[in-house]
Amino acid sequence: MIDFAGIATVAIVGISDKPERASYQVAKYLKSQGMRVIPVNPMIEQWCGDVCYPDVASIPASIALDGVDVFRKSSEVPPVVEQAIARGVSFLWLQEQVVHEEAAAAATAAGLQVVMDRCMKKEYAAWLEREQPDIYDLLIIGAGPAGMTAALYGARAGMRTAVMEGVMPGGQAANTAILENYPGFVEPVEGPELMLRFLSQAQRFGAIYLSEEAACVRLTGHLKRVISQQQTRYGRTVIIATGAKPATLGIPGEDRYYGQGVSYCATCDGALYRDKKVVVAGGGNSAVEEALFLTKFAREVVLIHRRDQLRATQVIQDRAMESEKLSIRWNTVLEAIEGDTLVRRVRTKHVQTGETGEIDCDGVFIFIGQRPELEFIAEDIATTEEGFMVTDGQLGIGIPGVFACGDVRDTPLRQIATAVGDGALAATMAEKYLAAQRG
Ligand SMILES: Cc1cc2nc3c(=O)[nH]c(=O)nc-3n(C[C@H](O)[C@H](O)[C@H](O)COP(=O)(O)OP(=O)(O)OC[C@H]3O[C@@H](n4cnc5c(N)ncnc54)[C@H](O)[C@@H]3O)c2cc1C
Repeated sequence: MIDFAGIATVAIVGISDKPERASYQVAKYLKSQGMRVIPVNPMIEQWCGDVCYPDVASIPASIALDGVDVFRKSSEVPPVVEQAIARGVSFLWLQEQVVHEEAAAAATAAGLQVVMDRCMKKEYAAWLEREQPDIYDLLIIGAGPAGMTAALYGARAGMRTAVMEGVMPGGQAANTAILENYPGFVEPVEGPELMLRFLSQAQRFGAIYLSEEAACVRLTGHLKRVISQQQTRYGRTVIIATGAKPATLGIPGEDRYYGQGVSYCATCDGALYRDKKVVVAGGGNSAVEEALFLTKFAREVVLIHRRDQLRATQVIQDRAMESEKLSIRWNTVLEAIEGDTLVRRVRTKHVQTGETGEIDCDGVFIFIGQRPELEFIAEDIATTEEGFMVTDGQLGIGIPGVFACGDVRDTPLRQIATAVGDGALAATMAEKYLAAQRG
């Protein structure tokens, strides 16, 4: 069985420029489905505005051909097959009434998949009919602010849109108690509430929410495949909006006490530390905001920062300095987390003097940055040193029809407002890509 979804580019050998001919119609159909068609016929120079090549050998090597579909007399098949083998394509398709057993055997021996005496359009259409419920114009991976905005824009633009989510809608923002800087809300808004609004709005325009984690993807075909534990889904375009997860310190005790005193989410776990003493590691906006949030519950919060000044914005720094419950240990790093069944203390080190110390505490909250969620992508994609996806100005990642948005990509600011802008742009670019594909 030919992997139809995986086909990106196919050469149509013996293509006609007459619309009533089968080769013309098959080529037009495959093109309308998003495949790139390379016309081959020595008698014509251009086909529907594209360069027409005299034979397969003349197609520039820069064009990565997946297969060859042949509309020639059976007797003229062998040289086409020789060129297809030399070209290293993965399949040979001989249309209805094109039959050449020896050439087909040679292609099979060379490792090509061979289909003979069949119409590619009919076979593809039958396959499409079977897979239809799982094919989307736009398939988004990740339902954080970026993914849900992309779903809103995609669905509203009339694309059949689905957004896949492995945990719960809202991403990091759904774990943030209070948001003060999302435009339009004069009073602070709760993260979970805002995220439910994002989801409802996207669904109102027809976006489909799929509670499924993408386990792996194959992005290079004209239909991109996203595989979850439940099933395989296809996207004519795909947006990767899988965001980021908290970075870990990698110190002794961090794994051991995760869930037993070590946390990466104050909103989730802060209330467990009522009247207790907690340590917070970090010095950026998230760390200081979360430390302030923890002062609502804890009797004492000690912020450990490896530098001599915070990276958080001034208004947040001012609040930290004013808080009676919050103190800061400058130029200090955590070296180990210790305890019995629960966390009891942390070991610290002064980065300038090397002096070591310990702080008794009941909990440790770590907010030292993020790492992107990309484990499910095995394909070669460009990333920064820290692992964030590199995108172009239109949020493309260098694979046609695939875009990335939000915290998962290389961007100078990771906030809900920027994730939202990204989601809108990525969906709009996906729509433009699809329109161009369909001609
Ligand atoms: C503690 C904290 C406080 C913050 N406070 C603020 C603030 O006050 N204001 C502000 O603007 N921003 C704040 N932010 C940042 C903001 O939450 C993020 O910038 C924003 O959520 C990024 O959106 P995103 O959609 O790109 O990614 P995320 O929010 O990370 O969403 C990605 C989603 O993708 C899902 N996913 C991942 N992998 C898969 C997979 N394989 N298959 C399916 N789904 C997958 C995840 O489960 C997640 O739901 C805060 C962040 C943190 C951690």
